[in-house]
Amino acid sequence: MQHYQLPNSDLKLSRLAYGTWHLGGSWDKTPLSDELKKSTAELILTAVDCGVNHIDLADIYTLGKSDEAVGLTLKANPSLREKVILQEKFGIIVGADNDFGPPGRYDFSAKHLTSSLERSLKRLNTDYVDIITLHRPDPLVEYDEVAKAFDHIESQGMARYFGVSNHSAVQIQLLKRYIRQPIILNQLELNLLHHHLIADGILVNQMGQQDSRSHGLLEYCRLEDIMIQAWSPVAGGQLFRVNPNDPTHIQKTAQLIEQLAKEKGTSKEAIAFAWLLRHPMGIQPIIGSRNPERIKASVLADDVSLSRQEWYSLLEAARGAGVP
Ligand code: NAP
Repeated sequence: MQHYQLPNSDLKLSRLAYGTWHLGGSWDKTPLSDELKKSTAELILTAVDCGVNHIDLADIYTLGKSDEAVGLTLKANPSLREKVILQEKFGIIVGADNDFGPPGRYDFSAKHLTSSLERSLKRLNTDYVDIITLHRPDPLVEYDEVAKAFDHIESQGMARYFGVSNHSAVQIQLLKRYIRQPIILNQLELNLLHHHLIADGILVNQMGQQDSRSHGLLEYCRLEDIMIQAWSPVAGGQLFRVNPNDPTHIQKTAQLIEQLAKEKGTSKEAIAFAWLLRHPMGIQPIIGSRNPERIKASVLADDVSLSRQEWYSLLEAARGAGVP
């Protein structure tokens, strides 16, 4: 597996990361079953065996059970902690599962961020994570509080580097005015069926541009040496579960993926991931599958090179339109 040397850090990240959103079972207080503990270990070790050295986590995933399951894997495999780069996301509080309890919300107060990370570290059976990431922008953010939290986390050695997720360029700029640490990455939804960040760059001054918040985000991140991580890189599996009622652009994209996979003697997953890897800024897709065989099929992307023509054909199929 090839690596990205992350600017402003000593981190060498595998080109593909592994995500833990779906680990830990149900989003409730049911304790982790032995089966879930075993399957988590198998998934993490499969990813690592395939050359993936970067694990994406979040305190909220399955209400902490995802962190816990990964923590048990780390405990059972003592040499693993130093082999992997752990990235924890925080700042979201899950709401009550009824109409009357507290709502889902974001909380960037120093108290919440710090205590949330302390809980995650305990669950993960480790003293530190390599990267801590603000999960989603909090409209009530008080930047002094974030700065206070980051300084405390850094001084206590609880995290080494800092990133954001789902943030716009201007939100990052604002944050940067208050914090001392560089922002090294921005984790965003990006795949062939959710390609606005990329298509945005070829539609300057075109009619029908609506999402002004993502306008220029990719270029901004590139300018500022902020790596983009792609979440839901295969659109939650939608690219591989096509049925005749799906919109034409999805069917055509799936057909083209299949055709390219055959021509190149690789997997369909590899083609979908390779489309993201082909971007020259070094986008890091996060594999989300809970199926070891699909993890293996996904990492084949590291060996796939798409020509400019193939890359644009996929974009054209996914957009349902050629470039202007
Ligand atoms: P994804 O890989 O696009 O979707 C994973 C889903 O696709 C799984 O349900 C998987 O099922 C299915 N899938 C994969 N390959 C398939 C195939 N060949 N055929 C049929 N289904 C297939 O990614 P994601 O899970 O949405 O996101 C990846 C990671 O990004 C997450 O784990 C998390 O770490 C991160 N994330 C971050 C945010 C954020 O706001 N920052 C949001 C969402 C996700 P199987 O498990 O059965 O293979």
